[in-house]
Amino acid sequence: MKTVQFDALIIGAGGAGMNAALQLADAQLQVAVVSKVFPTRSHTVAAQGGVNAALGNVMADKWHWHMFDTVKGSDYLGDQDAIEHMCREAIPTVYELEHNGVPFSRLDNGKIYQRPFGGQSQEFGGKQAARTCAAADRTGHAILHSLYQQNIRAKTHFFDEYFAVDLIRDEEGFILGVLALEIATGEPILIESKATLIATGGGGQVYRTTSNAHINTGDGMAMALRAGIPLQDMEFFQFHPTGIAGKGMLITEGVRGEGGYLINSEGERFMERYASMAKDLASRDVVSRAIVTEINEGRGCGPNKDHVLLKVDHLGEEVVAKRLPSIRESSRIFAGIDPVEEPIPVFPTAHYMMGGIPTDRFARVVMPLGEEQDEQNAVIPGLYAAGECACASVHGANRLGGNSLLDILVFGRLAGKDIIDYVKNNPEHRPLNQASVDRALYRLNRWELPPEGEALSVNELRCELQKLMEDHAGVFRSEEVMQKGVLKLQALRKKLAQVRLQHRGKVFNTARIEALELENLFDIGMAIAVAAANRKESRGAHARPDYPKRDDQNWMKHSLYFQQGDRLSYKAVRSTPLSVESFPPKERIY
Ligand SMILES: Cc1cc2nc3c(=O)[nH]c(=O)nc-3n(C[C@H](O)[C@H](O)[C@H](O)COP(=O)(O)OP(=O)(O)OC[C@H]3O[C@@H](n4cnc5c(N)ncnc54)[C@H](O)[C@@H]3O)c2cc1C
Repeated sequence: MKTVQFDALIIGAGGAGMNAALQLADAQLQVAVVSKVFPTRSHTVAAQGGVNAALGNVMADKWHWHMFDTVKGSDYLGDQDAIEHMCREAIPTVYELEHNGVPFSRLDNGKIYQRPFGGQSQEFGGKQAARTCAAADRTGHAILHSLYQQNIRAKTHFFDEYFAVDLIRDEEGFILGVLALEIATGEPILIESKATLIATGGGGQVYRTTSNAHINTGDGMAMALRAGIPLQDMEFFQFHPTGIAGKGMLITEGVRGEGGYLINSEGERFMERYASMAKDLASRDVVSRAIVTEINEGRGCGPNKDHVLLKVDHLGEEVVAKRLPSIRESSRIFAGIDPVEEPIPVFPTAHYMMGGIPTDRFARVVMPLGEEQDEQNAVIPGLYAAGECACASVHGANRLGGNSLLDILVFGRLAGKDIIDYVKNNPEHRPLNQASVDRALYRLNRWELPPEGEALSVNELRCELQKLMEDHAGVFRSEEVMQKGVLKLQALRKKLAQVRLQHRGKVFNTARIEALELENLFDIGMAIAVAAANRKESRGAHARPDYPKRDDQNWMKHSLYFQQGDRLSYKAVRSTPLSVESFPPKERIY
């Protein structure tokens, strides 16, 4: 088998992977970036609204206020040391992007344009802040393309359209690299590395209606699970309030930031009843629940009363053309309406995973050490995770809009910097472990073995999984619904063994990849379902009608899901920031 060696390996070419790669390549390290799609097609390219940093260009702002909003937004489940770190690092990170050529929208005075976004305030919960740095409604596109070009300049080595199958590790738990599949040829390749960063993004495809691209299948998280690493806080899945009804494509929160608002079938601006201060710019979990409640109580719009409307027409064509051009395009294509003339039909859509591979604030992957709920962690040497697949615990139970682009850029950059030191101190490759390579190869090839019994198709099973997750781990979750979901999921997962790919005697590489992705979706679906069924409180995105209140006494803790035996353990939330006073839990009102 073809084998190559690099100082550092980065799996994923979204904002997190590319910002890490840039640090490494600029430091003259040999760095490989593996991506299953061409790098600039990574989901970061779809980010619309912007990235948060307390630059104070439009009105007064401070990182400390940004920190408060993030802690409150997290429903007090975020680790306050990591949140402080991110909010402070936001400012140099955005300026570095600007210097790297990101074409941000500008104010008349030439400074970076910043728009109001949900859950943001001045003075620790006071007036609405404007903190989200934007390039029209194509911020992710602008960022990803600039980072790609900088990486080309810095001579990062890209493996474009290679699918990472599994991590290779030795008996001591060191990660030695990855087994990947070259999609064009179907050839496996072994990429050995001294340090590895998982930056594979989210897994919204586990739900039927999602804002996420087809490629967002949680591959890196599933790889971590199979390598014995737990996933943290997986029960917290964000439903974005404004997906195009029935389709799921995103209508950015920036629409409400620019003055758009939601109405029900009675034409009522209903958010005023749910969040008297922030109204339509309340936190996402709050707005999503409000929409579902309006519909459940019979005030939905349309012939089936199954969505609400997002009103934009009052903003005028000029604002829409300047600030929200892509939204107009998406509405025309996917909803068949022009938002300048008619309101957009919307419904919550599966959007973002707050949980993921547990890391510290330097993006190093950590394992719990010893006792349950102990704060102590052991670092897995040479293994890093950043971006949506990771859980540095800056979003806790609910992420604020504009904080994910921030998370991927900050922690991608910090991972790069930490890997430079790691490789300096660990200059040799460790010996390869053949048993681990064989396991990964088996996983790659097993779809073509002779079937035992009836052969099932990938597509059929994926649709069943997505429907199951939507029905049993959606916006509102009761005990009975979730317990049933776990049992059904366990049964459905057994059918994976029957999936076969033969199609008129041929197996396409793309079909092989879909099968591998399906297995990954099952792995993370199970993590979500098991963690959700066990958390007996309502916090952030995890809303239980049977336990409607947050329970700080018993549940101020992170969940850790281990694949073996579908086991859960818990660890304490780190409530002590680095340099400022802790924000104690309070009732979360917007
Ligand atoms: C429609 C939409 C709009 C959004 N808007 C905003 C916004 O305005 N502001 C904000 O803060 N956040 C926003 N978000 C969230 C944010 O964009 C994402 O969380 C973030 O971009 C994820 O970046 P990432 O680097 O972690 O991963 P991604 O950008 O998803 O990249 C993942 C990379 O991993 C690679 N990969 C995955 N699996 C494999 C594998 N098996 N083998 C090889 N390569 C693999 C992919 O090819 C890709 O290169 C939005 C999300 C969506 C879906």
